[in-house]
Amino acid sequence: MSHAYKRRHHRNIGKGTEPALIGVINAGSSSLKFTFYESDQPILSGQVDGVGVRPSARATGADGAALDPPDLGHTPVTGPAEALPGLIEWAKQKLADRRLAALGHRVVHGGLRYSRPQRVTPALLAELESLIPLAPLHEPHNIAPIRTALALRPDLPQVACFDTAFHRSMPEVAQAFALPHALYDEGIRRYGFHGLSYEYIASVLPDRAPEIADGKVVVAHLGNGCSLCGFRARKSVASTMGFTALDGVPMGTRCGDLDPGVVLHLIQQKGMAVEDVADLLYKRSGMLGLSGLSSDFRDLLASESPRSRFAVDVFCYRVAGHIGSLAAALGGLDGIVFTAGVGENAVPVRAAICLACRWLGLELDEAANRRHGPRISTAGSRVAAYVIPTDENFMIARHARALLGSPDESSSSARNL
Ligand code: ADP
Repeated sequence: MSHAYKRRHHRNIGKGTEPALIGVINAGSSSLKFTFYESDQPILSGQVDGVGVRPSARATGADGAALDPPDLGHTPVTGPAEALPGLIEWAKQKLADRRLAALGHRVVHGGLRYSRPQRVTPALLAELESLIPLAPLHEPHNIAPIRTALALRPDLPQVACFDTAFHRSMPEVAQAFALPHALYDEGIRRYGFHGLSYEYIASVLPDRAPEIADGKVVVAHLGNGCSLCGFRARKSVASTMGFTALDGVPMGTRCGDLDPGVVLHLIQQKGMAVEDVADLLYKRSGMLGLSGLSSDFRDLLASESPRSRFAVDVFCYRVAGHIGSLAAALGGLDGIVFTAGVGENAVPVRAAICLACRWLGLELDEAANRRHGPRISTAGSRVAAYVIPTDENFMIARHARALLGSPDESSSSARNL
């Protein structure tokens, strides 16, 4: 999404004018994305990629123009958190006389307890450590930069924002696997993820799609990771992602729904090691596995290969199937919202999904779809369809600001960066 777009639209939902900065950190297994916000405006953002292999960094300023990125040349970066001290030094120079009020972090799992963001304390960190077994591939990478920042700047307030939090409103029937109840009680249940993206969409729906905002809406977050969420009055009542971010629709490299018997077969009959099965399901399946070409929809849509076409067909079939299932969970459907990299950009993918949803009363406006809407259904369509860009980092910055009060007024902790 362009900076101009964000500026235009965030003006509507921004309320503070505090000049102190909120830094947002989104750390994955091999990358660290960051954005520094002044009020609701991103003034410095970028990412460090290829951590542990060949680290590289890029950055953009307030106008969206490229800047000299942080120099990682002499830093042997083995984990994303290790890039943080260099990044903060670099940001200090770029942001000269501005003050950093707080850091907000994306944390994938907040367990059963957290339905809201939390101020970081030693007790919270200990609790988040205890959630690592629930998200072993993500949680450690999310927690590491919090620890690094705490060691570097113990006085700097930090806020953890959870991808599961938005879904704590799901009814128990939507959370349960049909497993013995004791497992449910110990936390083996459907949590749902991408909550910060859904929360952002929920926050802008009244402005962008007022006629459906408080109705029954399916939001399709289709990016590298993909999930769908059923909203009733802007609250999550069902999600396609479950216990882990493997569930639901197929993704770039993840398989989505799978008969658990396949996992047993791979281990028991084919003798695969558990780690190899995990690698297969997380990194070699989805669009990459089906196409044998790429995990990126741009490559698949540009390719003539029948397998690439088949991969896209499987994806659209499965997304449409889940829209039907979520409509059943909602007891009806007023609208569908497409968001994230694929949902915001892939015209043919949206078209195929909408076509498969005609039986639900959705009529696609093809010309509107080609220009990315925002409304892509016809005026007479019973079910509306929209394209709305998401912005998880913006949501995190808002949470950090709200949780800490106005950073300018409580600025005993807001020092020069
Ligand atoms: P992440 O889940 O990592 O935040 P994004 O939401 O940015 O990822 O989605 C990235 C994916 O979006 C890419 O891998 C690609 O498949 C898809 N994508 C981005 N731009 C386009 C485009 N113009 N056409 C089709 N697909 C696109």
